[in-house]
Formats: sequence, structure tokens, C-alpha cells
Amino acid sequence: MAGLVPLSSVDWPGKLVATVFVQGCPWRCTYCHNTGLLDCRAPGTRMFDDVLQLLERRRGLLDGVIFSGGEATRHPALPAAIAAVRAAGFDVGLHTGGGFPKRLAEIAPQLSWVGFDVKGQPADYPSVVGVPEIMGQRAWLALEALLDARRTPTVEARMTVYPGSHTRATILECARRALDLGVDAFALQEARTADGSRPYRPENADPDWDFDELAADVQALADTRIIIRAAKD
Ligand code: SF4
Repeated sequence: MAGLVPLSSVDWPGKLVATVFVQGCPWRCTYCHNTGLLDCRAPGTRMFDDVLQLLERRRGLLDGVIFSGGEATRHPALPAAIAAVRAAGFDVGLHTGGGFPKRLAEIAPQLSWVGFDVKGQPADYPSVVGVPEIMGQRAWLALEALLDARRTPTVEARMTVYPGSHTRATILECARRALDLGVDAFALQEARTADGSRPYRPENADPDWDFDELAADVQALADTRIIIRAAKD
């Protein structure tokens, strides 16, 4: 593990959880807040036993554990870690971009909630996360498989945008596609700077870019299943 936050009220909406950060991510989002977690070869800094000990101390205070990253599903020990948390009597949630579909399908029945990062349509993956289009196709297939799982977790698809990241049409297509697949919610998120203090704006960003306008268009698709997270909130 690369880190452990003992109490979070934001990583799993509506739940009080401990958040485990797993080292390593195969993708390279330009707005990434966790660049220290990206190197897949870097050793972890915490032992998983720390999580189990924390859960014992916080029994009755915590609802569960979120595995985050990096990309938690790249780690071969994730299924065993999830099983250990569940055996201790806690719910398990996951943040993922769907980069490792087989492992995601394996753990899906053990998950209660998933925040699934949609990075765009498959053709956007090379520019948005620096991986070939086929990885985007695999990510969408992973989302489909998750929603078809024998015991389906609650799934929030989330898409992070900033000026120039995607066209308006692409954002609406992605929202529609995720909603049509059956996600419980689609969250449109405005990227923030790494310190979280303000909206992320790449060099040469379109000064007329208007997140609120975009959010209104997305909201109109399916009012009750849309979540808007503006960077200024
Ligand atoms: S998927 Fe997450 S951890 Fe990986 S590069 Fe993108 S923002 Fe960073």
C-alpha cells in the first residue's frame, strides 16, 4: 500500500470509510493528484495489516474500506485484501478506471460500491490518459461486465473534465452511454489543481470554457441520476 487515510467522508458518498491507496497506475492523466502513486515498481510504504488493525480499533465507527489508487485492480493481492476486510465485517468499495477487467470481474461480487472513472470514449484514451484506444474499449467493457455481475455493486460512473479535455458532444455521449448501461449515477466532475484549491486549467485553455453550461446539459439527460461536482464548490 502507498497510503492509508483512517477516516474519509468523501471517498464513498454517504459512508465513513478508511481509504487505502494502492501503489501503481498504468495511466497518465494530465490533472493527476496522485503522481507519487503512479510508478508500478515503487515499493509500498504501509503494510496491509495496518488496515486490519485500524478496523479493529474503529469497529462501530467505520462503515467500510475504499480501495483507491493509483489503480487498485492492477495489484494481484487485491482479491485477498478485499476478502480480509469483508471477513472482518466491513463493506468494501473501489475506485477504478477499469484497466484490469478480469480482476474487476473477479472481485465484483465482493464490492458494495464502485466509483468508475470514465475517461472519455475509447478514441479519447490516447490523449486523455496516454494509453492506446484499445485500453479505452477494454475499460468500457469492464464497466459493462461490472454492471452484469452476479451481485452488482452500486456503481457511480464519473467523468473528469477541463477545458480542451473533451468536446461537449463527447461528454454527453459518455454520460448517455453510461446511463444506458445502467449505472446508478453519472457524476460530471470539474478537474481541480493538485492542491484542490481551484479549477485545473491547462496552458492555452479556452477562456470561454463554461463548466456550468456543460453541467446543465448533462443534468438535463437524467436529472435524478446526475451528480455535478464543480471545482469551486
Ligand atoms: S487514473 Fe487516477 S491515479 Fe492514474 S493517472 Fe489518472 S488520475 Fe492519476
